[in-house]
Amino acid sequence: MVGFGYDLHRLVEGESLILGGLNIESSIGTLAHSDGDVLLHAIIDAILGSIGEGDIGEHFPDTDIKNKNIDSKIMLSYTLNLLKAKGFELVNVDNTIVLEKPKLSPIKEEIRSSVAQLLGLPNKRVNIKATTNEKQDSIGKSESIVVYSICQVKEITN
Ligand code: MG
Repeated sequence: MVGFGYDLHRLVEGESLILGGLNIESSIGTLAHSDGDVLLHAIIDAILGSIGEGDIGEHFPDTDIKNKNIDSKIMLSYTLNLLKAKGFELVNVDNTIVLEKPKLSPIKEEIRSSVAQLLGLPNKRVNIKATTNEKQDSIGKSESIVVYSICQVKEITN
């Protein structure tokens, strides 16, 4: 089965930019109720989608004070536990990060390793693509960042 995830966060001066659990050197960062790890949020939604479990907002409502500034790695680990409990495991995850700056090409491999480790997958089963929005719309003006994720899961066979 497959699942798809999408997330957007606003980018503002002085906030931190965390992608795939990594703190990225950047003058602008994500405005968020949580830690704003837009990459992990999209991956979580892809995994939830693959097993028909709704979306991240249902599992971690932003109206709940418990979820304020929540570490996205905690939400991911909850999601991976749910996947396992439903009898599935991840096959691979592919991601496209859309942002104007900073340039991610020099650190794409680092992001990949971090995500692979968090997912318990070998690096070859995690792919990170980065692209700009050619200066168009809010992404192109560095006012927002978007991530698209897709994953495949399979039933655990013993
Ligand atoms: Mg989000």
